[in-house]
Amino acid sequence: MTGGLCDVPGGSHDGQPRPYPCGWRCTTHAPQARPTTTPTTTISPAVAAAAQRQTHSGPRQVTSALFVDCGDGRETKHGDRAGQIRYTGQPRARYECLACGWQSETITGPTAIRRFLDHIRAAHKAACPAAPSEGAQAA
Ligand SMILES: [Zn+2]
Ligand SMILES: [Zn+2]
Repeated sequence: MTGGLCDVPGGSHDGQPRPYPCGWRCTTHAPQARPTTTPTTTISPAVAAAAQRQTHSGPRQVTSALFVDCGDGRETKHGDRAGQIRYTGQPRARYECLACGWQSETITGPTAIRRFLDHIRAAHKAACPAAPSEGAQAA
């Protein structure tokens, strides 16, 4: 076996020991259990078109669109940043309202995007000068 062993004596160890600033630790004894997040959990890498709801039998009406670029994230496997996600390309998202032509700024970062996706539709709908008043949009 190469590499180090968990520095914590006794107890039950789990996982491959990894070097931390405080020494070698197995998964159980790692200084922080960092949740591993992936940027692609809820976001489609393709352009996501939203609001395809049709209330009239007229021409197809798309009232808004979300553009999401997942970026490129890689988990750091070794070193004192083990377990962290390092982005070589930041995920980005942008919202565009086709009814009034409003465009959001480009949002970057997985956390900001998740928050953004959560509220942008409702937030803009409340402010949109061209928002359709009929029907309720299922969230
Ligand atoms: Zn251990
Ligand atoms: Zn609008």
